[in-house]
Parts: sequence; C-alpha cells; structure tokens
Amino acid sequence: MDLKRTHYIGNLNASLKGQKVIVGGWVEDLRELGKLTFLTLRDVTGVAQIVVVGEEGIKQVKDLNRQSVVRVTGTVQETKARDFPFEIKSEKIEILSRAVHPLPIDPIGRLESNIDNRLNARALDLRNQKTASIFKMRHHALQSIRKTLTELGFIEVNTPKIIGSASEGGANLFSLKYFDKQAYLAQSPQLYKEQLTLGLERVFEISSFYRAEKSHTVRHLTEFTSVDIEADFMDYLDVMEVLEKVVTDVFEHVEKNCIQEQKVLGIEVKKPKTPFERVTYAQAIKELGREGISLTEGDDLQDSHLRKLGEMHQGFYFLIDWPMKLKPFYIHEKDGEPSLSKSFDLQYGYLELSSGGRRLHDPNKIRARLVEQGLNPSQFEDHLKAFDWGMPPHSGWGLGLDRLMSVLTKIDNVREVVLYPRDPERLFP
Ligand code: ATP
Ligand code: MN
Repeated sequence: MDLKRTHYIGNLNASLKGQKVIVGGWVEDLRELGKLTFLTLRDVTGVAQIVVVGEEGIKQVKDLNRQSVVRVTGTVQETKARDFPFEIKSEKIEILSRAVHPLPIDPIGRLESNIDNRLNARALDLRNQKTASIFKMRHHALQSIRKTLTELGFIEVNTPKIIGSASEGGANLFSLKYFDKQAYLAQSPQLYKEQLTLGLERVFEISSFYRAEKSHTVRHLTEFTSVDIEADFMDYLDVMEVLEKVVTDVFEHVEKNCIQEQKVLGIEVKKPKTPFERVTYAQAIKELGREGISLTEGDDLQDSHLRKLGEMHQGFYFLIDWPMKLKPFYIHEKDGEPSLSKSFDLQYGYLELSSGGRRLHDPNKIRARLVEQGLNPSQFEDHLKAFDWGMPPHSGWGLGLDRLMSVLTKIDNVREVVLYPRDPERLFP
C-alpha cells in the first residue's frame, strides 16, 4: 500500500482550493452533523478539517476511535467553519492504525493528566500540542547551539560514555559490569575534551551524561544532556563570552523560529540583555552578609543562598572567581590570588545553568592538586601523559541543556523538557 502524502497539513492553505491532496495523520476529533461527518485530522505540522462524504466513508469512520491514524485523499475547498481557513472534502479514507480506548491520557489536554501519567504514556503525550511545542523548541535550540559553535570554529566531537576509571574522582558514578571488568558511565566529558584541544583546538560535544545522585529536585536527573566546550588559547573570560553568545543566540533563534510554539505554550521568548552581570564570589558573600546570612570565604553556596542571590540578581548572571578549594582539581588559580580560581557558574536566578573555567595545563600542578584533593595521581596517568605532548592552555564549560530548556520554556521541572527522564525513581518507559 502506498503511504505517501502530497502535503503536510501545515503546508496547505485556502489558495489551494480545488486541488487534490493526500494528507495523513491522527484523528483528533470526529463529529456527526446531520448528513455530514467532520473529522479533525492532525499531523506534526498542523490540523485540518476533513468533510467526510459518501455512504462508504461515513460508515468507515463511524466507529473510529480518536487518535487512530488515517490517510485521506480529497480536495481542498472553502469552509464555513470558523476555526479553519479551508477544509478537505474526502474522496477516500484509509484507516492505517486503530487506537484502542480507553487511552491512558487525553492528548488533547481537555482532561489534564498529572506528569507521572503523561510520562508513562510519553509517546502519546507528544500529540499534546504543548508537549510537542517543547520538543520542537528543543530541536531549534540544538540547531542554534550547533550553528553558533560551528561559526566560532568549534568542531563537534563524541567522547566515550563507558569509561574505565572514575574520571573526576567523584563518588556519584554509576558503575556497570563490563564483561569481567568494572566500568562506569561518564559524568562529563571533562578529561577527553581537554585532551582534544591538543589536536582540534576548539571542540564541543552535546551528549547524555550520568550522575548517580539521589537528588529529588526539579533540576536534577540521573541522565541529563550537557553541552560542553573546550578551547585552547582562551582564558575563562573568553569562554564566558562564548557561553553568553550561545545562550543569547538560542533565545533569538527560538524567538524568531518558534512563533506557533510560543503561542501554544503561552510564553514570549525574548533575547536577554547582554552582557550578563558578573558577580564575584566575594561580592556574593558580602551581599548575603547584608541579608543576615554570614558566610566565610571558602564556604560553598547552598541552595538557600543561591535563592537569596537569585532574588537580588534576576535573570542571567555569572558568579565568578570561586575559591580554589570549592573547585575540581583541573581548575586554574587566579593570577596573583592563588586561593581564588579562574572559574564561573552561569546562573539564571537561583538556578545553575553552567560551570566552567580556565584549566591547569601544567601536569605537575595537576598532580599536586589531585593529592590535595585526596585523589591518586597514578590513576590519572593515562590522562596526564597527554599534558607532556604539548598541551595548550585551555578553558571550557559545561551547560545543562535540560535546565536551559526549562528556562527557555518557563517550565520549572526539567522532567517536562526531557522526553524520557531518568531520576532515582523513574527508569521506565
Ligand atoms: P548542581 O550543583 O546543580 O547539582 P553541578 O555543579 O554538580 O550542578 P556541574 O558538574 O557543574 O554540575 O555540571 C555542569 C552543568 O550540567 C550544571 O551547571 C547543570 O546545568 C548540568 N547538570 C549537572 N548535573 C545535572 C543533573 N543531575 N541534572 C541535570 N542537569 C545537570
Ligand atoms: Mn557546577
């Protein structure tokens, strides 16, 4: 059987009046009105009204369940319907797949389903226009990120997700049996992307990474998508500029290219003002002190502190120059201020979107830092040997794509912007 369509519904319009078309999709609604049956047909691009005429056609769709898949051959004609600019008079209806009722959720969204029910039926949930809009926007965001970074000379790479040793020494790694060996799921591409600057200079990766953290928040998943860059001949302030451009380009691109999606979601995406504010860690401590939260240099900023700072600095801002003791072993100290680091977080209010910084490129300094942090340099020799092959000074960052999407769509829970989220409780579907 032929499955071809002549048009996506979104490409039809009233000026095609009289033209024979073949469309296909799922039945969103079905109404009998006297002798006529009206069928609302949706595909990924839009929705159209089909007037079913002829005894056979009407009989065919009479007991057809909503959400079933059909292919319709017909002619575009004018309509009296208020909600549609044209309609299609059917000549032939082919039922390609029947939906079995009751369905677990109502994808039209007339009946609200809670997030768990929707995630349990995620494929069907994508027929909900709100859900579909989120993932169309996510697609556009990814397109924009790839375009911006490519134009800045970054090369897209793929690094391993199955790794043989705990790369950053963290305790939050998933371990897995790798035949008769022990392996782990990568929590970030950190060490690989640093090594890759040696030959490719500027690299980026967009991929899933894994953290075995039992966090029950709206911003943590055990599997998340990260956008990572690493670039030689750049210091931390330089890669912050790259980050600012990547993020603002996403907003600009989505603002222009996702008009319908913004309407469906009831949001207005606007390119944020630049440059983003830069707040030093020391300044943040002072500001918190004025709010009655007393911290001393070296204290980490807890969730409640970040919420307070988020009230004072709304929207995007950088938190820079963190104490070295709060940063991983590969982060570079500040010139002339060795207790501070060339590091930053990009915040959106209280929410951390990205962390990055200048990296150490002197292997002996890295060895010393590893020891300082209770890690064993001999376990990092595979990585450290690359630093004797002419390792350029370099900087980079990792940006949580799911969190960025949550800011972009103004939806707090990252589970909403991930197709099949994984958290400590959710492993299916
Ligand atoms: P947090 O303190 O919020 O747990 P982190 O500092 O541990 O984050 P990084 O190691 O700095 O995270 O990772 C870089 C970015 O990746 C973060 O800024 C965030 O946007 C994203 N990210 C990290 N862990 C997760 C996670 N479990 N779920 C979703 N996104 C994450
Ligand atoms: Mn971080």
